[in-house]
Amino acid sequence: MSSSGVSDPAAPPSDSSSPVRQDFIRQVVREDLASGKHTAIRTRFPPEPNGYLHIGHAKAICLDFGIAAEFGGRCNLRFDDTNPEKEDLAFVRAIEDDVRWLGFDWAELRHASDYFEVYYLAAEKLIGQGDAYVCDLTAEQVREYRGTLTEPGRNSPFRDRSVEENLDLFRRMRAGEFADGTRTLRAKIDMASGNMNLRDPALYRIKKVAHQNTGDAWPIYPMYDFAHALGDAVEGITHSLCTLEFEDHRPLYDWVVDRVDLAGNPELLASLTARGLPNVAAKPRQIEFSRLNINYTVMSKRKLTQLVTEGLVDGWDDPRMYTLQGLRRRGYTPAALRLLVDRVGISKQNSVIDFSVLEGALRDDLDARAPRRMAVIDPVKLVLTNLPDGHAETLTFSNHPKDEAQGTREVPFSRQLWIEREDFAEVPPKGFKRLIPSGEVRLRGAGIVRCDEVIKDDSGVIVELRGTLDPESRPGMEGANRKIKGTIHWVSAAHAVAAEVRLFDRLFTVEKPDDESTGKTYREHLNPDSKRSVTGYVEPAAATAAPEQAFQFERLGYFVADRYDHSAAAPVFNRSVTLRDTWAAGT
Ligand code: ATP
Ligand code: MG
Repeated sequence: MSSSGVSDPAAPPSDSSSPVRQDFIRQVVREDLASGKHTAIRTRFPPEPNGYLHIGHAKAICLDFGIAAEFGGRCNLRFDDTNPEKEDLAFVRAIEDDVRWLGFDWAELRHASDYFEVYYLAAEKLIGQGDAYVCDLTAEQVREYRGTLTEPGRNSPFRDRSVEENLDLFRRMRAGEFADGTRTLRAKIDMASGNMNLRDPALYRIKKVAHQNTGDAWPIYPMYDFAHALGDAVEGITHSLCTLEFEDHRPLYDWVVDRVDLAGNPELLASLTARGLPNVAAKPRQIEFSRLNINYTVMSKRKLTQLVTEGLVDGWDDPRMYTLQGLRRRGYTPAALRLLVDRVGISKQNSVIDFSVLEGALRDDLDARAPRRMAVIDPVKLVLTNLPDGHAETLTFSNHPKDEAQGTREVPFSRQLWIEREDFAEVPPKGFKRLIPSGEVRLRGAGIVRCDEVIKDDSGVIVELRGTLDPESRPGMEGANRKIKGTIHWVSAAHAVAAEVRLFDRLFTVEKPDDESTGKTYREHLNPDSKRSVTGYVEPAAATAAPEQAFQFERLGYFVADRYDHSAAAPVFNRSVTLRDTWAAGT
């Protein structure tokens, strides 16, 4: 992999023709290039491989990779793998897939664990400078000493150990001589600081746990703030973009970068070069932006994990999940997610985006690109009694009303059709413009039918409709354009393929499922009707679709052939999103 940037060949026009993005971070980048502060932009996306990516991560990915691509820079994918118990190689692979699926590629694939040796040397350097010490307080004591927001903390009794003693103890920590939790390496900053993160934060802890990348090599692991700041410095990251909750960590980030001072440290630099790491030392700058939040969802890896492990959904890629895997299976496209991120914009203002913005982005993308097909998901039979038994013909339909380049397809038509049950009403509600007894409706692209007879079973359920097709209204005939109020879709019963159609709704019934001030947890707000599966019929040209092919099923919504379960012989479609309700008028 050589350069970063949007690599999706199917990238929609919205990517290239959208106006130049003007958010405050891109403004900083422009200024830094204009002033000569940086000549090349380097960013990184730093997920912790402890779960699957969710739609919030899509915002960070589009920003990190997008900025690199727009300014001719490079973006690394860096796994922040400093918490070995919670991390897993399966997550690593899935995250790589998700980033590529969104249309991005990384300049280099990195792991915080690639730098464990560098971190260790940097820690020794801090000890040598009197900037770090080994502390024997227990976790509980550390909490007691830390103070509160209103009270300063107290110095640890181990704070004034000599450099020699600290070095000796730290080396023995590294050699595995001490038990988990018995000692930490702490930064010596300021126990009275108004910023709690600066009250001698831990830099290293003892944890005798095997690591997915480094195995048993390390009994000590660096803490996030230390590893992250230094990882950025090592990779020469110019703009380290993260979400607002890290704003309070920025002074510590800067402290680590300044005190370790890679550029002024020949020994560390040499060790980096020896490992083939970029010998660059542009001082990274952390910039925070607001998280993406969407209503009717939960959006933290922890809660998404719980939904899966507690069996509340059918796995990480359940189409109702807001993981990228789930959204993908639901039929969300990379272009729709990029469009969403563009529409939401980048700022420091925390806000909750309405679900309709997400669905709107998908509709706009699919409206422009998805081929049209006909499918009937709640079928009732309509027999055209004036056509001969065995009558069959082929009609030509355009694949997309606004995109001629998508060409045409053949749609079989015959004497017996499936139509939607709700497109017929024996006792029509006011304004009903579809089929009624003795009334007429247009069969999309085929002609006008009049309903002559309604056949019911013993319990009164309609089992068949019988009607007459007006021969003068057939395609090409003079009466083809005869004005008629409603148009309905249909499939030929003899040719259509039975399909499992999965209909989804919001997973939660309330806007803020994680608002626990109501005394309820998000589990109690699950929508019991968020998943329904029906058997419908699709025209042959839908059944033969490849998995993940999206369609607009006319008048029904946008659907996608299921990524895993769909086959031409046994089609399975997921409803991605409904259409806007404008069709309800019967057009
Ligand atoms: P979560 O808190 O949801 O479990 P996380 O922040 O722990 O996610 P990381 O793997 O640490 O997940 O995140 C990788 C990057 O994605 C970070 O830079 C983080 O700031 C960013 N990110 C995570 N959630 C969101 C979000 N909702 N909106 C925008 N960026 C996000
Ligand atoms: Mg995090």
